[in-house]
Order: sequence, then C-alpha cells, then structure tokens
Amino acid sequence: IRASASPRRPPGSAEGAGLSVLVTGAAGFVGAHCSLALRKRGDGVVGIDNYNSYYDPSLKKARRALLGSHGVFVVDGDINDGRLLAKLFDVVPFTHVLHLAAQAGVRYAMENPSSYVRSNVAGLVSLLESCKDADPQPAVVWASSSSVYGLNDAVPFSEAHRTDKPASLYAATKKAGEAITHTYNHIYGLSITGLRFFTVYGPWGRPDMAYFFFTRNILQGKPVTVYRGRDHVDIARDFTYIDDIVRGCLAALDTAGRSTGGGGRKRGAAPYRIFNLGNTSPVTVPALVAMLERCLMVKARRHVVEMPGNGDVPFTHANISLAREQLGYKPTTSLEMGLKKFVRWYLSYYGYNRGTHAFRNHL
Ligand code: NAD
Repeated sequence: IRASASPRRPPGSAEGAGLSVLVTGAAGFVGAHCSLALRKRGDGVVGIDNYNSYYDPSLKKARRALLGSHGVFVVDGDINDGRLLAKLFDVVPFTHVLHLAAQAGVRYAMENPSSYVRSNVAGLVSLLESCKDADPQPAVVWASSSSVYGLNDAVPFSEAHRTDKPASLYAATKKAGEAITHTYNHIYGLSITGLRFFTVYGPWGRPDMAYFFFTRNILQGKPVTVYRGRDHVDIARDFTYIDDIVRGCLAALDTAGRSTGGGGRKRGAAPYRIFNLGNTSPVTVPALVAMLERCLMVKARRHVVEMPGNGDVPFTHANISLAREQLGYKPTTSLEMGLKKFVRWYLSYYGYNRGTHAFRNHL
C-alpha cells in the first residue's frame, strides 16, 4: 500500500474524482464488481479479503487477478485483524468503507455456525472500531440482506416491515449487524448505510447459489433439485442483476454524507439509513430453471422435493420505493437478460465455448 499510494492520495484517485474507498470482501462476487466500477469512474479503491474456502478460492483469485489488471490492490487479510485495519487507515485516508466481507449463504450456517459469528458479528465490530478511530472517520456503506425479513407474509417487503423472525443464523447475524451499526452511528457519529440485497446474480457469481449450480448440473447432465414450499407453493426469489446492485452501492456511497465523529447528539446527527436493493419482480424456481434451459439450449433433469427446514424462506419481494426516491435506484435488467449474460460468462470462464467440455455434445 505504501508503495502504491501517496499518503493523502490513494490509488486510483489521480484525477481527484472524489472518493477513497476501502472495499472489504473485494475478491468476493459483489466486492469485485463494485471495486471495478469505482476504479473505472476514477475513485481510489483498496480491497481486503481473507480468501476463505467457503467456495472455490480459485474463483476469488481469478477475481483478484482481474482487479489487479485494473490497478485495484487487494490486501490478503481478515477484518478481525484490528492492527492491520489500523495500519490501512493510517496509510490511506479513506473517505468511505464499502463493507461486503461476510460469511454468506443460508444453508452452510447449519454446518459451520461459528464462521457467521466470526465474520458477520465480530468482524463487523472490529471494522467499525477501526472506522471510529480513523481520522478522517469514513462513511460506512454495508451489505445487510433481504434475509432479515425472514418468515414475513407482508409482501413486497418494505424497510419499515418487521424483521423479528429471522429464519437462519445468517439472517440473524445480518439483523445483529443492523443493530450494531445503529449503535456506532448514535454513539460515535459514524455515517451508516445498510443495503438489503435481494438474491444477487450475474457473471463472476457465487458457485453456492442456485442459478450457478443449476447451470453446472444442467451442463453436466446431472439433476437439479428444486425445492417446493408448503402446500406445494413454488419458492420465489426477487433475483437482482449485479450491475443494478453495483449502481445502488455507488449511489449509496455518493449520498452517504459525512460521519460527524463523536455522536449524533453532540455534533449534529450523522445519517443512519437502510435501503432495499431488489428487482421488484420475483420469479419462481421452476421458472428460473426453464429460463436456464432456454439460455443453455439443454433440457434439465428436475428432482422436485419438499423444502427442508434449512433456513431458506419461501419467497422474497422487494419494495424499492425508498431507494428509488433517495438513491435514484432503478433496476433495469430482467432475469432473462441477466441470465443470458451470466451464461455467456460461465461458458467462457469454464471453457465450454472452446469445445473442451461435453457442452458440444448437447447442441
Ligand atoms: P462472497 O462470499 O462472494 O463475498 C464475500 C467475501 O468476503 C469473500 O471473498 C470472502 O472471502 C470475504 N470474507 C469473508 N469473511 C471475511 C473476513 N472475516 N475478513 C476478510 N474477508 C472476508 O459474497 P457476495 O455474494 O459477494 O456477498 C457480498 C455481501 O453481500 C455479503 O455481506 C453478503 O452477506 C451480502 N449479500 C449477498 C447477497 C447475494 O445474493 N449475493 C444477498 C444478500 C446479501
């Protein structure tokens, strides 16, 4: 970092474009896309990621290589390492933190609960401690999740809806994150914006997510397991394309306001905001599979089973009025269009379009 950035001018801010952003989880799916978008518009970006092995670390390394080729440096480190964070804040005067590092995934929480507490609760507190001690104090924009709405029957979900029935430990840690960030806002005057993402998908996505492993299974001729909810109701998700989410994140950074340092009541209130970032048009899982079949030109073998009690919720659906009004957020990519872009990336990344896989035989 010392080598690549002058103390008052982080990498990428040569044109004085404005923001100087620490992106946590930068080698992750959303983190890599946001880091690239910030860099492309001329903001300063430094990333941090611990490259955990929750899913294929080679995909994270490939994202890191992509970022490196665009001049974004990703520190190999953990947000629980307060000393490392203090050093980073000492060297680079970040104006903003885009906090995306987390243990993601709902089902894995049943096997490895402590990893959620470690990254999503302890890691968040460690990061906020560093933000509060930094000079200048950065504004914090961070990823909460639609999962906080849990088993909520009132659709579409609005920010004011109750979030007292988390269905998984993942959801509970995101809900805890909202309470923790609120505390740092009113005690220490940190500007906080929480973004409740709704099922983000797209190129460079996460292999643990259904659209990704359905694609893999369809191409490999393996069955796709489709869960059906109670009373035979199909599960539905408000799938949101990555570019729409990136635009929402950048708008949140641009409008985050300043941390006031020292508590709202003492020096004027720093903003505390929460927004849904969704697509407003839920699609059922069987409809998702049908769209993938059309994109891939391959028939799926479906295996329909009752949804096990593993933390998944039956449906999600975002009301995005608040984000539209305050962030100018307007998703523009339909699921059909976004899946085409994802499939194009998938075939290229895994070499299918070079004819090295069985895909050739499916056509
Ligand atoms: P991801 O797993 O691809 O990215 C998270 C990154 O954080 C990973 O690269 C991981 O190695 C890193 N990380 C985890 N713990 C860390 C730690 N302690 N220190 C440093 N790095 C650490 O996930 P994503 O899909 O890009 O999600 C980004 C954020 O958005 C997460 O907070 C996630 O909970 C949230 N979110 C994602 C979705 C979605 O559909 N993708 C939906 C709702 C919320």
